[in-house]
Amino acid sequence: MEKQFQTEVSELLKLVINSLYSNRDIFLRELVSNSSDAIDKVRFNSLSDKSLAVESDELKIKLIADKDKKTFTVIDNGVGMTEAEVEENIGTIAHSGTKSFVEKLQSSKEENAPDLIGQFGVGFYSAFMVADKVDVYTRSAAVDASEGVHWHSEGTGSYTIEKTDLAEHGTKIVLHLKEDAEEFLEEWKIRKIVKTYSDFLSYPITMDVEKTLPKADEDSEPEVKIEEETLNSMKAIWTKSKSDVTEEEYSEFYRHVSHDHQEPAEIIHYRAEGNLEFDSLLFIPERAPSDMFMQQENKGVCLYVKRVFIMDNCKELVPDYLRFVKGVVDSADLPLNVSREILQEDRVIRTIRKNIVKKVISTLKKTKNKDFDKYSKFWAEFGKVIKEGISNDWENKDKLTELLVFESSSTEAGKFTSLDDYVKRMPEDQKEIYYITGLSRAAVQNSPQLEAFKKKGYEVLFFIDPIDEWVTQSLTEFDGKALKSVAKGDLDLDEKEKEELEKENENFKTPLESIQKVLDEDIKEVRFSSRLTDSPCCLVADENGMGVNMENIFKAMNQ
Ligand code: ADP
Ligand code: MG
Repeated sequence: MEKQFQTEVSELLKLVINSLYSNRDIFLRELVSNSSDAIDKVRFNSLSDKSLAVESDELKIKLIADKDKKTFTVIDNGVGMTEAEVEENIGTIAHSGTKSFVEKLQSSKEENAPDLIGQFGVGFYSAFMVADKVDVYTRSAAVDASEGVHWHSEGTGSYTIEKTDLAEHGTKIVLHLKEDAEEFLEEWKIRKIVKTYSDFLSYPITMDVEKTLPKADEDSEPEVKIEEETLNSMKAIWTKSKSDVTEEEYSEFYRHVSHDHQEPAEIIHYRAEGNLEFDSLLFIPERAPSDMFMQQENKGVCLYVKRVFIMDNCKELVPDYLRFVKGVVDSADLPLNVSREILQEDRVIRTIRKNIVKKVISTLKKTKNKDFDKYSKFWAEFGKVIKEGISNDWENKDKLTELLVFESSSTEAGKFTSLDDYVKRMPEDQKEIYYITGLSRAAVQNSPQLEAFKKKGYEVLFFIDPIDEWVTQSLTEFDGKALKSVAKGDLDLDEKEKEELEKENENFKTPLESIQKVLDEDIKEVRFSSRLTDSPCCLVADENGMGVNMENIFKAMNQ
């Protein structure tokens, strides 16, 4: 049956085919990586479903380069796909980021383009960089041999899909190479790509290679034999010691586990020893994914037990506010058949989680102290998420508070200050930490409410993330100093100032009352204030009332 691609998919295909030529090698990494994921899945399913009869030591990825037919084939005996899954995973792009991906691609320079592929989970389509026709033969491990599927596309607007008999479960992808892509049939080229990008994968990636045997005697012809060779070393890099892992290996592994094609911002690799032993290789990405605030499945932290993949995105291993952390945790203290339900209750997992949280926070703190510019970049991407932890994780609240940075009346736009540094700059007579809430820096920095603070030389923090208002609910003081909104209540005045102000209020009682009468519905009180120097008036919230910004939030929610 012939079907049309989703519009975005055909748009994407055009772009992949026409503009992603700078590093075509990555198509192989993408396909092999998908195969490895598929084998992980079937292996995991077989732990609980004995009918799957998967032989662990037969799991592999085979590459076949056929110079006569000019095809390059990737075969795996992984979980395979049903017809519905093919439609969903390959015929459409379910990922929400596709549209923005296409836009980004259109505006980006060619050399950056391949890096964008994996970021949006469209790796499969990279096959069309080297092939003008692609056949996918796949059969899900959960269905009969007669339920196989053959998918074919020429990378234009449509594809065909039909049922076919397939004896083995798994997936075979046949690429009919473009004329200018025949280099991918060369053994050395294939070896090189596998070594560069996929060496650490835990399943064998094999290829039939010609081996010349030593001559039996002087006169006989050398004998040539075909042998299946494993091209990757299959070393689980998280079990190696730090000094044995190169930067490139870390990068490649990060790409594999995160599906992000940039370099990681932080690498956290350690082995916990003592009562509980586990290996942990975690990464903090450079950039936040486009769907960070939607409850999307992302790769997160993968759980391994004694090097056997158990699951990706193991939410029990990291709290929600660290959901941007990627990587692997490998424990020897869990049973192989551990299920999600068991995980939620498990003491071992809870201990690992505590340990990871501690480690991630201390890593961030170190960066903050050592390289504030780098930390600021991290903060601009993930600060919002970390702030969720202030109200959710009481145990680590103090440590998380040390991570907080804000823009302020003393920083340039887009630059941050920590609470620590704020306190260090406080003039002697300032007793409290002041903040102003609003929707943006532009909206708060010229607020009349700041005038008196400026005059006194008091720095004011800008709480311009919507979540900051929630942060103030759980964070009421720092270093023994109360956090106080400039929009609430009065500034501390000395006695003389107070007297003068009271006198003014008394003198102008009548006009104040008539203004009050006119605005009766909307305000509680009109009075002279010490907080203004240039502007004639401003709105102030009651000491115990809701913040002005909070009121705006409620208004926006129609409360
Ligand atoms: P991603 O790997 O980031 O999800 P891809 O475009 O590489 O994106 O693949 C899309 C989806 O197609 C995969 O998530 C998987 O469900 C499915 N898929 C691709 N290759 C295979 C394979 N060899 N075996 C089983 N499923 C596969
Ligand atoms: Mg993929």
